[in-house]
Amino acid sequence: MEQTLSIIKPDAVAKNVVGKILDRFESNGLRIAATKKVQLSKADAEAFYAVHAERPFFGELVDFMISGPVVVSVLEGEDAMAKNRDLMGATNPKEAAAGTIRADFAESIDANAVHGSDSLENAAIEIKFFFSDREIC
Ligand code: ATP
Ligand code: MG
Repeated sequence: MEQTLSIIKPDAVAKNVVGKILDRFESNGLRIAATKKVQLSKADAEAFYAVHAERPFFGELVDFMISGPVVVSVLEGEDAMAKNRDLMGATNPKEAAAGTIRADFAESIDANAVHGSDSLENAAIEIKFFFSDREIC
């Protein structure tokens, strides 16, 4: 069984569609092994997205991720990492396939509703960033 990290970003939390997004996961064979709502600090967001530190949009990305609370979850299931990425759709919601979370709930490439780990190695790192062992069950 694989585990991956999902973040419902501030835009989707503000739109009150947390339940609708979590339902996409549960309805598509993923189990919620952990979940919580968190207000990230600037230091949290900079550390989480450190891989993007050199990208031109890094400052905007950090500001956006701390603009309101997020809902972080550990999703578990067969091929959980790739399945979550499929359910999310393309980074730019304008390019996201119909029926994906970003096509249905996101506005722009910055406010794109969800994050999902992009490899199993990163999934393990990102899960540890947010959750202790006893919170995952
Ligand atoms: P995420 O990591 O959030 O799941 P992703 O893996 O689809 O998204 P990445 O390439 O890892 O996309 O980019 C991380 C985030 O940075 C994107 O979700 C998006 O919010 C933002 N981003 C990516 N490219 C751009 C861009 N060209 N302009 C502005 N923001 C961008
Ligand atoms: Mg990414």
